[in-house]
Order: sequence, then C-alpha cells, then structure tokens
Amino acid sequence: MAASHKSITAAEIKAAVDHAYESLKDTTGGKNADYIPYLASVDPTLFGISVCLLDGTVISAGDVDHTFGIESVSKVPTAILAMREYGAVDVLEKVGADATGLPFNSIMALLLEKDRPSSPLVNAGAIAACSLVEPIGDADGKWRAITTNIAELTGHEPAVIEELYRSESATDFNNRSIAWLLKDYGRIYDDPNLSLDLYTRQCSLGTTAHQLAIMAATIANDGFNPVTNKQVFDPDFAPKITSLITTVGFYERTDDWLYKSGIPAKSGVGGGVLGIMPGMFGIAAFSPPLDEAGNSVKAQAAIRQIMQELGLNIFAASRLCVCQCATPASEA
Ligand code: GLU
Repeated sequence: MAASHKSITAAEIKAAVDHAYESLKDTTGGKNADYIPYLASVDPTLFGISVCLLDGTVISAGDVDHTFGIESVSKVPTAILAMREYGAVDVLEKVGADATGLPFNSIMALLLEKDRPSSPLVNAGAIAACSLVEPIGDADGKWRAITTNIAELTGHEPAVIEELYRSESATDFNNRSIAWLLKDYGRIYDDPNLSLDLYTRQCSLGTTAHQLAIMAATIANDGFNPVTNKQVFDPDFAPKITSLITTVGFYERTDDWLYKSGIPAKSGVGGGVLGIMPGMFGIAAFSPPLDEAGNSVKAQAAIRQIMQELGLNIFAASRLCVCQCATPASEA
C-alpha cells in the first residue's frame, strides 16, 4: 500500500513549538562565537522559535522579535538572488554546488578545489555570489539588490547592525585571503575588496527568528511569500536552493544534522537556524551559544525536538505532512 501523508493542524504545530521552547529555554551548552568580537557580547540566554505555515500563519515562542546578526544565513538569499539574476545553470557554472565537507571558512577547501566551483553557502562561494550581484541603479546598487531581495523574502526591510559590521570588518583576515585566492583562481566576478565588503555587510544585517521563518516558508512554498502574497522567485529555483541547504547547511556537521533531524536547514554564527519543509512550512530558531562547528546548540535542539514531536522527516514518505493551516482561535 502506498504511504500517505500525515495531516497536521496548526494547533499541533503550536503545541510542539511551545513544548520545545519550555523544555529547552533554561538549558545551557555551547559558547557564543568570539572570533567576531560583537557576537561574544550578545546575551546568551536569548532564545526564540518561529514556524511560518504556507497560509502565512506564524506560530512563535520566545524572543522571536529580537534582532540578531544574520551571518551565514544571508548566504541563502544571495544564492537565490544570483539564481534570479543569472538562472540556476549559470550559478552552478560560475559558483557551484559542491559541499566542501570542511569548515565554512576553509582556505584548504579553496586550495583543493582551485578553479573548480563550490557552494554559494560556504564563505568562498558566498563571496563569489556577492561579486556576481547586478547593481540596481547607482553605485550602491549591488547593496540595494541584496537588501531588496531579502526584504522580498522576509517581508521586512533589513538594516545593518553597525557595531557588528565594524567588528566583523576589523577581524575578517581569513575572508580577505579567501577573496584574493578566488581572484587568483578566476572565480570572482568583481573587485575582491568590494565583493568581500558586500559579503561582510550582508552577514552584519539584523534579522529575527520571525523574519527567517517567513523566508524559509517562501522557499518551502516554491518562491511564493505566504505573508506578503507575492511570487518572489521562479518556482524552479526552490529545489535548487533547498538542495544547497541540504548538502552544506551545517558545514562539516551537515550529515549528522540531516541524519538526526530529517530537515534541510542553514545555520549562522549569530545563532540563527532556518529550516525548510518543502510544501509544508518554514521554521527558524535563534540562540547565540554554538557548538565547535559554529552551529547554535539550542536552535538545533529545538528544531529536532519539533520534528520528532510532529513525527516529520523529509526523507520518509509516511512522515511528510499536509498542514491543515486554519489558524486556531487562540492564535487569531
Ligand atoms: N560572517 C561570518 C564569517 O564569514 C559568517 C560565518 C557563519 O555564520 O557561518 O566568518
């Protein structure tokens, strides 16, 4: 007999989010990133979880409106922007889709790959993706293109956390090496310093768990933002970006993450994680302390727990769901 999809209500998702929040909110473990000084100073007790269903209902618990540094999660929207501007085939050719299996900022990965491309979701590929961005209008046009795209995906105009930008720019020596190695290998398509600055600025943008959940839902919904009701990108790009997230979302810990959680997700050293259940929902969690690979300990635990409680797994036919999205009265 063919496996049929589960049916899950918004009330069940809300209960799972509340349970994960309550059971994890007082737990400790991990350590804020400190190689970017600003991140070390962020309150480590902040914790929020947000799920956006494909009818636009947002279910949240905790500090979901606290603004934090988007960091590597910004690689996701800029990879989408590159697809919007160049198409999925050119992004594969010019940047690539290869999960390096090495840390996010690995120079070794670049040395090994030389002129072979790698994923736009690791630092080297992300700097290359920034170099590709077509300017809208004037000299600040590239930046405007990056932020406009994020605003379309989240429904919110993003702003740079200036202190984070200063902190990150003053300490980005590793990324500077990456930008110039890309130049050496012919894999950067604009001035390396300018491209690195764009990358650093996009990593320093403020975001919230609520906003990331909407971005995740837009990807899960084939590019249609369920909150703004706008088609942001070509539906054909949704499986491409989700495949990139699946293969490299947690860098060298991606395989463990998928095995344990059953959901493609992308983390950032600011403590945010964005997860995609295609055709079902987008989820985001935020908590600053990280494991040694740079992934938020509590955000990972929260998303895993919610997936388990709901009995969902993207790799199991009987554990996909059809969400009964009607908003429960208590949420309206
Ligand atoms: N801006 C950070 C860096 O390039 C982002 C790293 C991350 O979030 O994984 O080092």
